[in-house]
Amino acid sequence: MHSIKEVAPDIFMITQVITQKHLKSSVNLFVIAGKDGLVFDSGYGGRQKKRRLVHALGKISHLKRSRGETCTITRAMPSHGHWDHFSGLGHLQNALGLEILATQKQAKKIGSKKSFKDSFREDSPLFNPPTPKFFEVCHNIWDNLVNELFMKLAKVSFVSGPINIIDENTRLSVNGESWQMIPVPGHCDDDIVLYNRERGILLGGDIILRRITTWLGPPRSNLKDYLENLERLMKLPNLKLILPAHGSPIRNPVKRIQEAIDHREKRTRDLFLLLLRSGKRGLSFGEIFHAFYPKSPLFKKSLLEGWILVSLQYLFEKGDIITSFGGRNMIFKTRA
Ligand SMILES: [Zn+2]
Repeated sequence: MHSIKEVAPDIFMITQVITQKHLKSSVNLFVIAGKDGLVFDSGYGGRQKKRRLVHALGKISHLKRSRGETCTITRAMPSHGHWDHFSGLGHLQNALGLEILATQKQAKKIGSKKSFKDSFREDSPLFNPPTPKFFEVCHNIWDNLVNELFMKLAKVSFVSGPINIIDENTRLSVNGESWQMIPVPGHCDDDIVLYNRERGILLGGDIILRRITTWLGPPRSNLKDYLENLERLMKLPNLKLILPAHGSPIRNPVKRIQEAIDHREKRTRDLFLLLLRSGKRGLSFGEIFHAFYPKSPLFKKSLLEGWILVSLQYLFEKGDIITSFGGRNMIFKTRA
């Protein structure tokens, strides 16, 4: 299923929806339509989704022509290297001959299954106490199996043809209009946004969403970068509209960005106070997780734990907390 909406003159939002038993999600991609148009993000993989995406682009061209305007889409690019943003790119290249643009960091993930898989690997000694080699090997084999299964289920697809590498601070000309690319790592390590200053429109990827909180989690999220980049986006001159990759457009961008900053700061404070209350004993990660989510089912843990891990890393790097070994666990406590 997908829908097409013209969310600003000549900017079309295509929303793809997945509705399966345990998985319900949607993603937006944007088409800046005109004589030299661009597709920003490319949605899910899977044969049907890809076919419908090509069909949607055809519909947009048709609509533009019915208004007596030209429409040629020439390029496509991802906002970042998460699977639900790049899995349609390969098909746009193969079926429509679109040129694929990406930054160096993004190209690594979207162009090869191996480097995409490698980017999942966690090696933070902050959360993983040293383990005997045997257990480490078992753990890696298990991780590999889980990743393979996930990629099959999610139909993650890669770009097999050439990728045109662009500088992450470049200015793109799209249909004669100027769109500034701005690197904003934080949610992922390769996020970029596109900003049209004259129109005050920001294509924001996952950096800020209207109703839900942007997911953060290791190994590629960084809370310090995330907060700094939200501050930076809030100061963009003339910012009026953010078009996010999930959910509906954000028409009160400055207020919404401030809410997101406040939320992250509150969560970080809650975490710090929890550790402060635990005193000299400190808490293991399991205990921290349980304090925030006492009733969470196990299958949700990997989604919910992300922000806690990222916030612990942030507090640790700021020097507010320390770690030590307690039995088989890492123990987190505030600096005495
Ligand atoms: Zn993402």
